[in-house]
Amino acid sequence: MIIMNSEATNEEIANVVSEIKKYGLKADVSRGAYRTVIGLVGDESKIPFSNFAALPGVKEAMPIETPYKLISREYARMTEVEIGNRVIKVGDVEIGGNEPVFIAGPCAIESKEQLFKIAQGVKKAGAHILRGGIFKPRTSVHSFQGLGANGTEEASEALSWLREAGDRFELPVVTEIRGESHVDLVAEYVDIIQIGARNMYDQDLITKVARKGKPILYKRHFGAGIEEFLSFAEYIVAENNRDIILCERGILPLGKGRNYTRYTLDLSAVPAMRKETYLPIIIDPSHAAGRRDLIFDLSCAGIAVGACGLIVEVHHNPGEALVDSQQQITPDELKEVISACRGIHKALGQYRRNRD
Ligand code: PEP
Ligand code: MN
Repeated sequence: MIIMNSEATNEEIANVVSEIKKYGLKADVSRGAYRTVIGLVGDESKIPFSNFAALPGVKEAMPIETPYKLISREYARMTEVEIGNRVIKVGDVEIGGNEPVFIAGPCAIESKEQLFKIAQGVKKAGAHILRGGIFKPRTSVHSFQGLGANGTEEASEALSWLREAGDRFELPVVTEIRGESHVDLVAEYVDIIQIGARNMYDQDLITKVARKGKPILYKRHFGAGIEEFLSFAEYIVAENNRDIILCERGILPLGKGRNYTRYTLDLSAVPAMRKETYLPIIIDPSHAAGRRDLIFDLSCAGIAVGACGLIVEVHHNPGEALVDSQQQITPDELKEVISACRGIHKALGQYRRNRD
């Protein structure tokens, strides 16, 4: 990290940036009210910090060894880029703001009629953002892969329904991208791009999605530690995109745990990550539980531990859903979840404010 003098000129800042580039690293320039701080993105071991400290306009130059510095609260405090928590604005919706945010919709988009019915239902229930899968990551090649798997034309058509439903019901929309070849297409239609748990580690995909400059809903892999998850989120910020919504969606259960829940919702990860980063964190109770009778409780628990929202799978007729039918809830059930979570968020609000 290079801290510039408060009176450093633009030329001196540009000079430091060009010196950093000579070593094959990128520079993350943060201009605060009082000083400019330049973060180094890349392998810092090659950088002769004492030489940098001697450049005109430089106050201090030192290595920072945490694997995720750009998203850390510590770095944010130094750069004054983020004071408090980051609020991501999508249309009129604020993620990480004063109110909890509810993202809801079907696991998979099955037809225009199905999507519109559910979109109307979740809107009425109080949801803020519409979800719907078009490219589904599936364990078995023999199961429904989402309409996007049928070809570009079908993918575009499903994406246009999602856009239309979002516009009709005034809900920003989010869908998952499974592979690099779909990034350009999906980015044309959606407000938020989801990177699913299975792709958390795909550096090339994350980087390509990050460059689109749209908010990213980034899910933790079910086997990833907190440090790994945050370190990979850093790849997004390294592309100058700080609009990242972190999502805890459950980690692999132990022993016979699988007989009871699909994954284990790692509730402690939420407050632990809040201490580390200013990025908003949401909970996915649906994929964690894998069963609809636990969604209410896990949702309440997620909001209680400090998540700023939820992503919940909702279907007007869950039993008939082509994917994840056992864990989807109805719009009426979503309404109860939202109402309880709002109550919990409000009750804890005054305590929460003093904790980050
Ligand atoms: C999803 O949200 O549709 C999904 C597949 O979730 P995850 O990546 O968490 O399994
Ligand atoms: Mn699903």
